[in-house]
Amino acid sequence: MPLDVVYYGHPALRSKGKKIEKIDASIHEFADQMIQAMYHYEGCGLAAQQVGRSLQLAVIDVVEGMKSRPSKAWQHGKPLDIESIMPLVIINPEIIPVTQKTSYEIEGCISIPEVYAKVKRPARVKIRYQSLEGNLLEIEAEGLLARAAMHEVDHLHGILFTDYLSPKELQEHQAILKRLAQRNSVF
Ligand SMILES: [Zn+2]
Repeated sequence: MPLDVVYYGHPALRSKGKKIEKIDASIHEFADQMIQAMYHYEGCGLAAQQVGRSLQLAVIDVVEGMKSRPSKAWQHGKPLDIESIMPLVIINPEIIPVTQKTSYEIEGCISIPEVYAKVKRPARVKIRYQSLEGNLLEIEAEGLLARAAMHEVDHLHGILFTDYLSPKELQEHQAILKRLAQRNSVF
């Protein structure tokens, strides 16, 4: 059984994740379950908050998405084969924008099904994180990987992509958002 996901309106989505001090067997197991859940729910990323855990851990896989939404990445200044690092587990991650340029693209969220909207974000960022092996790594990315990482790191701080929408845009999705908030109490 995949992990249960919580939906828009659930308090877990507004909690800031606790820093992971020790990457032990339980964290490895949790990361595996997160990856399985991400594939099950067909998202390109999933954060711990979305399964009701307040931890600084998220998983990403943009391989499918990259077919229609290109992405580039670099490590130590050299181009990186994105497929080779997927699925990606990011622990205690940080995002550092490296350009003033922005990109304005569609986003969706496993916790907010049926809602899609454009969000403005930095076009290129550094993603600094710890791997499951405990190594401190840094990847520079643009395109879908950069966007997915920013969306997931937002989750780890209790921020949702809908927080960036204008009141008018939010209004357009109000009926669905209300229905989702009710869904939390059903499951
Ligand atoms: Zn999300």
